[in-house]
Amino acid sequence: MNKLTAIKLATVALIALAGTAASSAARLRVVATTPDLAALAREIGGSAVEVTALAKPTEDPHYVDAKPSHIVTLNRADVLIEGGAELELGWLPPLLESARNSKIGSTAPGRVVASQGIRMAEIPTTFDRSRGDVHSLGNPHFLIDPLSAKVVAANIATHFAQADPASAALYRANLASFMARIDAKLRQWEGQLAPFRGAKIVTYHKDFVYFASRFGLEVLETLEPKPGIAPSPAHLAQVIGAMKAANARVILVQPYQNRRTAETVARQTGARVLDIAQQPGARRNTTTYFDMMDYMVTTLATALRGG
Ligand SMILES: [Zn+2]
Repeated sequence: MNKLTAIKLATVALIALAGTAASSAARLRVVATTPDLAALAREIGGSAVEVTALAKPTEDPHYVDAKPSHIVTLNRADVLIEGGAELELGWLPPLLESARNSKIGSTAPGRVVASQGIRMAEIPTTFDRSRGDVHSLGNPHFLIDPLSAKVVAANIATHFAQADPASAALYRANLASFMARIDAKLRQWEGQLAPFRGAKIVTYHKDFVYFASRFGLEVLETLEPKPGIAPSPAHLAQVIGAMKAANARVILVQPYQNRRTAETVARQTGARVLDIAQQPGARRNTTTYFDMMDYMVTTLATALRGG
């Protein structure tokens, strides 16, 4: 290698390094507790943000395995997006305490609480955390209603613009595009599920309530007697009776729920266990919020049709 080429290469490498440093320094560092919130953050933030999700797509958002690396990630964050309504109560508070990052403090512009602005369903009148109840402030699984996703996306855009005013126009434009795409897809999803209006579904956890209400389905029973409390034989016997009486044909199970329990109930009722996931990335080719919803709606419509 001659001297001139060596100098040229070194210069190119330095410019590349500087470019990397500048772009990563300029990008807003966003941490979301769960992959669905991370997917919305990517829609709104586009090229101006770098997004990390703490929970894996296959992890139960109520019980995420807290790791030391999560503390480092939270320590470096410019923005934290959480589901709120105590979804992450079991694991996030100690991580935040150790991370010591005032940018994402509870009242800082860098803190987004997704449940703010959502009309919460199933706010309990009585609640006993000691028995394992987890839906203390109402049902926190609202993001699978596309209209909830619009509320959360707007909330995210507002906070991104506050934390990073230089890119505010980009966030506004991305939000407008997201809203328009949701409106178009919602019409498609409603069309796909319209033939099954009133169909009765059974779920493991109370995690399809907002979805059912948006698309005109009925959650007949859940295998858990209460959110967070494991199925008991007595409760399952009651579920089986109700499913037979109502001719319920599908049991929806997410990757972190006990599929074998669902299989037992399915055997006794002639129903079918449907593997479904509310987190983008849990199933193949479901990177975005739209992919995840497409997968869910299509899988459910196919099963309800008897396919
Ligand atoms: Zn839950």
